[in-house]
Amino acid sequence: MKFFLEKSYNISIAKDKPASLIHFVTNQCNARCPHCFIDFNNEITQKDTMSLENIEKLTHKVGNQLMNVNLTGGEPFLNPQLEEICNLYLQNTSIDSLFFSTNGAMTNKIVKMAQNLYGQYPDVIYTFSISIDNLGLKHDDYRKVKNLYQKALQTYHLLKDISDNIQPNITITVCEENADDIEEIFNTLFFKEDIRSITANIVRDEGVYQLNPKSKNKISSAYTNLIKLITQNKAQYSGNNYLAKMMNEKEKIMYQYIQQIYTNPKYILPCNAGGGLMGVIYPNGDVYPCEVLNKKMGNLYDYDMDLLKIWSLNNDLRKSIKKTKCHCTYECAWSYNILSSPKHISQLALKGI
Ligand code: SF4
Ligand code: SF4
Repeated sequence: MKFFLEKSYNISIAKDKPASLIHFVTNQCNARCPHCFIDFNNEITQKDTMSLENIEKLTHKVGNQLMNVNLTGGEPFLNPQLEEICNLYLQNTSIDSLFFSTNGAMTNKIVKMAQNLYGQYPDVIYTFSISIDNLGLKHDDYRKVKNLYQKALQTYHLLKDISDNIQPNITITVCEENADDIEEIFNTLFFKEDIRSITANIVRDEGVYQLNPKSKNKISSAYTNLIKLITQNKAQYSGNNYLAKMMNEKEKIMYQYIQQIYTNPKYILPCNAGGGLMGVIYPNGDVYPCEVLNKKMGNLYDYDMDLLKIWSLNNDLRKSIKKTKCHCTYECAWSYNILSSPKHISQLALKGI
């Protein structure tokens, strides 16, 4: 791991600089999932994009404590400059891993890019989280993309054969529409389609999407069922690298916590989003603590793309998130809350060795 001391100090003691960023590289998407939080009717946000020149500036100023970037959207592979954006992060920052959240439709582009990145940076760990919420035509109809199910499966299988450091997984977001079929979905993916790495997300209120409160119990039971199946069948990250081992242990802990708080929201661990260990960058340069809390930290264009400057101006927000015991089920924040928690840090470190 590059800059091991800086990263370890930040994640375990200081907790005041970004260890992980969720970078939305576009708001556009070829799919239209009913649970999506993006307002596709907003013509302004649909056009938002950051130039490579500005992303280059951002990457030069982000600090040697940065460990991971999650490139997301919309559908990130619709950004024609995605590979260049990856290269900027890989060349100019201290990251050891890149995470892509994708619907898996653009198989050729995804696989080609994975091969290119791995060819240039073979020590980096690349996780491709490919969404599937339902089986076959049901998935295509739900996301409104022809052949999406088959393309997502093909993307997974082609990626998994490239290298141990390329770890694709299928992410199932449990929602009202698939809750009744969750067992069949898991069994088909795992046993019939030979998908060995499956992770679970749970739907939440965000952006233009509002959850039907009456469906929460049903969704929660389906999530519990899915976690049981994932655990029993060890459907986990398959890489033999330290990150896969740590992520598998972290997922187990996170699933337990999310099951506890989905229908009965409560505080469990301090959240390190917003001026702490993680934050979200939107295509228009806005920086937020997470995708849930509506408190803008600043806009990168106002600070010459200097993210650390925005971070330093948000000490009060960081403290207030902790003081108010802010809590939610946002999985990206949970990952870093668990990784940085004194309660779990040694357990995770031991798994990673
Ligand atoms: S694939 Fe993702 S970004 Fe696209 S519509 Fe579905 S949830 Fe939204
Ligand atoms: S607890 Fe949730 S809503 Fe609050 S800051 Fe953390 S991620 Fe955001």
